[in-house]
This record gives sequence, C-alpha cells and structure tokens, in this order.
Amino acid sequence: MIDAGSEGMAVCRVDNRVVFVPYVVPGDIIDIRIVRKKRKYLEGRAVHFHQYSPKRTEALCTHFGICGGCRWQNMKYGDQLFYKQKQVFDSLKRIGGIESPEVRSILGSESVYCYRNKLEYTFSNLRWFTEKKSDIAEDPNALGFHIPGMFDKVLDIDQCFLQDDFTNTVRLTVKSYALRNQHKFYNIRTHEGFLRNLIVRNTRDGQWMVIVVFALHLKTEIQEMMDFIHSSFPQITSLSYVVNEKLNDTISDQKVIPYHGELFITETIDGIQFRISPVSFFQTNTFQAARLYNIALGFASFRGDETVYDLYSGTGTISLLASGKVKKVIGIEYIDAAVADARINAEVNGIVNTEFFSGDMSKVLDDEFILRNGRPDVIITDPPRAGMHSSVIDNIIKISPARIVYISCNPATQARDVAMMLETYRISAIQPVDMFPHTQHVENVILLEKV
Ligand code: SAH
Repeated sequence: MIDAGSEGMAVCRVDNRVVFVPYVVPGDIIDIRIVRKKRKYLEGRAVHFHQYSPKRTEALCTHFGICGGCRWQNMKYGDQLFYKQKQVFDSLKRIGGIESPEVRSILGSESVYCYRNKLEYTFSNLRWFTEKKSDIAEDPNALGFHIPGMFDKVLDIDQCFLQDDFTNTVRLTVKSYALRNQHKFYNIRTHEGFLRNLIVRNTRDGQWMVIVVFALHLKTEIQEMMDFIHSSFPQITSLSYVVNEKLNDTISDQKVIPYHGELFITETIDGIQFRISPVSFFQTNTFQAARLYNIALGFASFRGDETVYDLYSGTGTISLLASGKVKKVIGIEYIDAAVADARINAEVNGIVNTEFFSGDMSKVLDDEFILRNGRPDVIITDPPRAGMHSSVIDNIIKISPARIVYISCNPATQARDVAMMLETYRISAIQPVDMFPHTQHVENVILLEKV
C-alpha cells in the first residue's frame, strides 16, 4: 500500500488502477481480493499479509475493523499526522494548482483518545453479528454505532475510547435497564420499537448532558426510564428527552423535553462561556477547537478597530472569541436555532459588539448587506464540507477585505475555493490541525492577504 486516502482507506495501484483497501496501513504488503469495481477505482479487502508496515501499531479498541469510527487506529499517530498533512499539501497542489504550498507542521492532538465531547448511540434490534460463534445465539438488540455502508445495522459497543469512560457506563447501564424492562429497540426498516437514540455530551470541567430519544409517547415507561437514569447518575447535569415519531433520526426540528437540571451545559474557552443546548452544534474536540480558533484569530492579526465578518458562524464561537479584539463582528449562519444560541451566548457573556444574521450565505451577503453593516476589514470563513458557493466567493472578492482567514474541514473544497481567489489574494500561511485522531479527517486554516 502506498498512501492513506479517502474514507480512511489505504491506497495502492494495481495495473495502473487505483485500489482502496480498508483497515490496512501504507507500507503493508498484501494480497487483495477485489470486492467492488467502480469506473475510476476498485475497492478491495486484504486476504493475506506478506509484510507488515513499520507504520503499524496495535489498535486499542476491540471493535476496530468492524466499527467504522476510527479507521486509522492501527497506524502510529505520527504517521497519521504525516498523511493528514499530505492530504492538505496534495489538495492545494492538485486541485488548487499551487506549485509548492508551504504547509506548516500539523498541530497534533495531545489526547488521541477520549477527545470527543459528544457521541450519539443508536438502539436497534438489527444487531450486526460479528463472525464469532459465541455471538450467534445472542440477543439481536444493540446499542452502539451504525456499521459503515449499512444504514440498518448497528454494532453493539462494549467500550468506546472516543469519549470519557463515563459515556460507556451510561450506555451499558441504560442498555441493561432497557433489556430488563423488555423495551423494544427501534427497527429502522419497519419503524417499530420504542427506543431510538442516546446522545451523550460533556464539557471539559465535567458537566454531562444526556438526551434519550424515544419513538413512542409511552408516558409511564418514559417517566420510569428517565427516573432510573436520573437516580443512577447524579453526575448528569442536563437530562432531557425527545419523542421522535418521524422516519428520520434528526432531532434538530423536534421538541426537547427537560427532565432534570438545565437544558444546556456550559463550555468555557478563553474566558468566554458557551451554552450548548441539546441540538446545538459545537466542535466535538474542545481542546483542539480552542487551538484552532486561536490559530485563526492569530492569522487575523487584529489591531483593535476592525469590522469582522464571521461567515458560517454556527453558534457564534468565533465571533464571540474575536469580539474582545476588534470593533465589531457580524456573524452569518443559516440555521435559526444556531443564530439564537449565538445571540444568547453573546448576552450571557455581556458582549455587545456582535450581531448575528440568519440566512443562506449566497443570499445574505450582498451589496445592500455590506452597506448596512459596514465593509469588513477581515473575513473569517468556516464553511461546511461542501465549501463555499462560487457566488459567495465572487462576493468576497468584490468586498475585498485586507485579510481572509479560511477554516475548512475539507482540504479539497478549500483548495478549489482558494484557487478562485488567487488573482487578488496570496496565501500567507497554511496551518493544518488534527481534530480527529484515528480518522482521515483534517482541519486546515489558510490566511489569504490582498496582493
Ligand atoms: N464556525 C462555527 C461552525 C462552522 S460549521 C464553529 O466553529 O462552531 C459550518 C456552519 O455553516 C454550520 O453551522 C452550518 O449550519 C452553516 N451553513 C452551511 N451552509 C450554509 C449556507 N449556505 N449559508 C449559511 N450558513 C450555512
């Protein structure tokens, strides 16, 4: 295998065709069985190892190889960082057309386990059985993660190392309660059953939020189960539930019913408090997010009198962190609930120089908006994986701020977008950050300055 690439698979070339293989490491020498043929590439499985790569390490998790969560767990962390950095370099070179991008050394995560502040588990009676014989006679109920590529199969999880171990205690306790009480786990094919999801979130200082998602309004059963969770875990500072009768799992459009404590937990970054409600977005690796924001704001090198636009502002994290360093910050974001959270967070912190607007970026950011809110000196942009719409890029070029700080979770779309700005901007700095150890994901910050 020669590279580590898309979807966390290793890559090799056979007869000039690209083959992707999961759960192997660059440097492994293997025999491959082809399982899927696509027009541009093949997908294979390792059937025999001739030689193991020196980049290998032992995966800690017993679910490794089945669960899709941490596909690079068998690669040494230093090598994971190398391939993430390479992903940024390759994208800027191949997609962005930049001859030799000067990518700074990627900022690794100090904790490579237990780094997430949120996990979402699924109840299912369509448990994924591993091939172990001992499993066959077991119960079909599972509480865990979806098997990659199979919408209906859920892997029962014994221990997950992605969040503080309390997450495991809660999940296992809730599962055995559900089995003892013969509650039906949801069946995503027939849409039958009572228990759907269990969401566990936490803060760095030990606040815990648990949200149980039911599929049916069974008043007594809900009451008893919530009582049980509350009395078993006094550590849970925010306990709530949702009754989701829709066909899909999203709860952002559902009513969250408080059960115990506040309907939020509070994370503090650089002295600013962020209220996180059950449906609000918050970067899932808090430690690295704090460092990412720090890099982004450092790139912006504020003097103090700037007007700043924070595009794709989510719950306003970047705007609020920047607010003390500049004249004013304008955030734009299309999810109303996130905008509401951002406004509340500004208020909680007594911040008065931020304003948040909701709407689609390609519609909101126009000449009239600039006239009303002032021309930005600096634009910070943090779009979703798809990157920015070309009309948004055109507008940014037209607005022509002195600096643009582009944060991205997808180096490919970032490279495409940045390439469109290179007539009037030059790249002054490129800093990748690892937010998600053991996965192929990489976050990257680029500073663009007016030429
Ligand atoms: N900067 C924030 C969140 C960035 S995530 C933080 O660090 O917390 C990207 C955000 O872009 C999401 O909140 C998403 O809702 C928003 N978004 C996606 N497409 C959008 C569009 N077309 N217009 C406005 N906002 C959009």
